[in-house]
Amino acid sequence: MSLVDKFGRQITDLRVSVTDRCDFRCVYCRSATPENHMAHHELLEWAEYERLVTILVHLGVRKVRVTGGEPLVRPGVENFVTRLKAIGVHDLSMTTNGHLLAERLETLIAAGLDRINISLDSLDREKFERITRTKAFDRVMAGIDAAQNSVLRPVKVNAVLVRGFNDDEVEAFAEFARDRDLIMRFIEFMPLDADRAWTREAMVPAAEVYKRISARWPLVQVVHERSETARKYRFADGRGEIGLIAPVTQPFCGFCSRIRLTADGKLRTCLFSRQDHDLKYLLREGATDREIGDEILSIVAQKEKGHRINEPGFVPPSRTMVYIGG
Ligand code: SAM
Repeated sequence: MSLVDKFGRQITDLRVSVTDRCDFRCVYCRSATPENHMAHHELLEWAEYERLVTILVHLGVRKVRVTGGEPLVRPGVENFVTRLKAIGVHDLSMTTNGHLLAERLETLIAAGLDRINISLDSLDREKFERITRTKAFDRVMAGIDAAQNSVLRPVKVNAVLVRGFNDDEVEAFAEFARDRDLIMRFIEFMPLDADRAWTREAMVPAAEVYKRISARWPLVQVVHERSETARKYRFADGRGEIGLIAPVTQPFCGFCSRIRLTADGKLRTCLFSRQDHDLKYLLREGATDREIGDEILSIVAQKEKGHRINEPGFVPPSRTMVYIGG
């Protein structure tokens, strides 16, 4: 039995959001006004996550990314990483804002983390503070350095470009990748922000990023798997790599291999799903592994063909990124 949808796409990647809380309030993600957090009993417990991931691994999931909210704000996440590795997750990664990373890195590596993505939306302290609405610049940079000096090298650094906020930093980010020999990834701003402020004009197309960087440093395409979100390039003359993630201008839905589990135990077959599917209810009502597996198979079979951002009448999902898990 394996997870295949009605378009023949094989699902091998799972993103697990372990909390809806985050210690940052990035402008393109969360609102400046306080949001409600889920009550403790609404969140999955670690043992519940473990059971669901075990079922999913038996159904063919090979890659698991632990995310949030901010995964490092939930106590016990290192233990969870250990448990996931024991289940037999082939490729185990985490996406973090990096704020708490430097002091947690060694434990995460010992727990079996294979890879890490760290978000960094500006190399300029003041701008970073304006975007994230925090004062955490030095700690994030320390987290990136610590990870880059560890077995997790090369680290992937993710920047969401928002016109008027950080689009003037494309070249500076490219230089950052070259200097530190890391992978700098540029993500198109998606209509998933809490303030519903997304506009097409605010999004910086990947083609523009490619044009600006390649005008300065010749780029060489790097082979990527079809299901990968990023188009990858290395610098012809040196170290470092860039990745362009273009969900809006060059959607990659046709080869999508991902599903998501939210912090309150809902399975989502697309970031932009209009509906998610309650697995926590099944867990807590005493369903067997077989019953849960069958339910997952039928949910996945109905995975959306694509996200429809570019279609007339597109409606953004009611749950924003911080609730879904990026
Ligand atoms: N807190 C962690 C972090 O900061 O990386 C993990 C969760 S965060 C929701 C995961 C990723 O989603 C981050 O790289 C973030 O920049 C990205 N993200 C959030 N809102 C987005 C949006 N509206 N469009 C594109 N990417 C977004």
